[in-house]
Amino acid sequence: MNKKWHFCYMKVKIPTRITIARGDGIGPEIMDATLQIITAAGCAIETDEIIVGEKSYLSGNQSGIPSAAWDILRKNKLFLKGPITTPQGGGYKSVNVTLRKVLGLYANIRPCQSYHPYIATKHPVMDVVIIRENEEDLYAGIEHQQTDEVIQCLKLISKPGTEKIIRYAFEYARSSGRKKVSCFTKDNIMKLTDGLFHKTFDRIGNEYPEIEKEHLIVDIGAARLADTPELFDVIVMPNLYGDILSDIAAQITGSVGLGGSVNIGQQFALFEAIHGSAPMIAGKDIANPSGLLLAAIQLLLHVEEYEAAARIQNAWLRTLEDGIHTADIFREGLSKKKVGTRAFAEEIISRLGQLPQKLRAVDFQQGLAHITTTYEPALPAKKELVGVDVFIHYANRNAEELATHVQKSHSDLLSLKMITNRGTKVWPGGFPETFCTDHWRCRFISSNDHPLAYSNVLELMEAIHRQGLEIIKTENLYTFDGVPGFTAAQGQ
Ligand code: NAD
Repeated sequence: MNKKWHFCYMKVKIPTRITIARGDGIGPEIMDATLQIITAAGCAIETDEIIVGEKSYLSGNQSGIPSAAWDILRKNKLFLKGPITTPQGGGYKSVNVTLRKVLGLYANIRPCQSYHPYIATKHPVMDVVIIRENEEDLYAGIEHQQTDEVIQCLKLISKPGTEKIIRYAFEYARSSGRKKVSCFTKDNIMKLTDGLFHKTFDRIGNEYPEIEKEHLIVDIGAARLADTPELFDVIVMPNLYGDILSDIAAQITGSVGLGGSVNIGQQFALFEAIHGSAPMIAGKDIANPSGLLLAAIQLLLHVEEYEAAARIQNAWLRTLEDGIHTADIFREGLSKKKVGTRAFAEEIISRLGQLPQKLRAVDFQQGLAHITTTYEPALPAKKELVGVDVFIHYANRNAEELATHVQKSHSDLLSLKMITNRGTKVWPGGFPETFCTDHWRCRFISSNDHPLAYSNVLELMEAIHRQGLEIIKTENLYTFDGVPGFTAAQGQ
């Protein structure tokens, strides 16, 4: 672990210690450029370097984060991170996802702005902030192969996670003077998980009457964002949609290399570019360091280095305006000079103290550190067990036969109501055209509408097991204050 000092100018300030990781691929190049600019701008920042990512994976650490790195991360609380390559397959866990979850970084803020006419874009009027839920959704990474043919990934959405991110989006909009918050979900299909996100958006939105609100199904929301981003101001989304759409939004400003992002939690904050490690251009001195630089500017705002942050951003804007562009944003006839990563940093440094002439200069008064959210748990609901979904591995693709087999396991208290295959009802009254895999769900409901005891479920499972059927898993069916906590099947 390397410790370095990046000291600077004018006022004497106790340096803030931050953790840095250069990362993989283009990470070291863009981190060096960013640190060089920060140092030249006169910021009191002390850095402790940790090694995470590829090197750590290759040394046999499946998490990609050595245990000593955690101590430094927890001590410094602020982390400037280069992009990390996540190896595909092989049981390696994503460093990024692990950091966001372990450090409780629930909000990911991704501003995407176009710099027309200096950077080529089809969307000259674009200034969108994507606020992405950062800890939940399919990124729980809980996956299981259950049969020869079917693999499952759990999508987990919690009330605390949803409330915190939606409140964060409204607080962000209020404190930054933004007028509208849009919410994208797919609750026409995922009625309970995305439904919770949408309902929470509507409920919490009522507390912000001055802010315009809208909900869009994510497919048309994504289409409009790509086509007419000027319709949007702040957009809040569950994790997966936010991940995908923030790359699209950054790319249509001119380059994904222009997007910086902040990951915020109650105690920690992590600053990084939106883009990844771009291995194809690594080591060539051609990567655009702007995304990481904009993230570092947010870090400076976090530690109240407002003046230095503004000096850097204004010099960066001036550099773009002067047509000094890295390869990703260089356009013949528009740009003046194509530069590499290092030269781009030097051009910015040479403009420190200058303001952009046409693009709006920045003058920061605050960062994001003052935005906080809390979650007050509601009183627990009355939770009653009313049935069970029993998932069965059954290679014979015949629903009628399975139903006959399973019905032999009926108990007095639980009766078979339906069988589904990949969520579609195939018994009773299924269609022969419906393709079936080897993965079946048998739904049993309380026969007399009375709440069940878990022992009733265990008895049923025992009976099914005795029939020679292989139970893969079960899901209990509960009502909460009388409202079913489970969905119907497609075609039910
Ligand atoms: P990527 O963002 O690395 O690259 C996508 C495209 O954008 C490539 O053509 C690349 O050359 C270009 N690009 C990206 N950043 C650029 C920059 N600064 N300047 C110029 N061009 C740039 O996405 P990918 O190829 O899908 O992923 C590569 C690796 O990065 C994967 O292992 C992925 O898991 C990882 N990744 C990491 C993070 C992170 O650390 N936060 C985020 C996304 C992807």
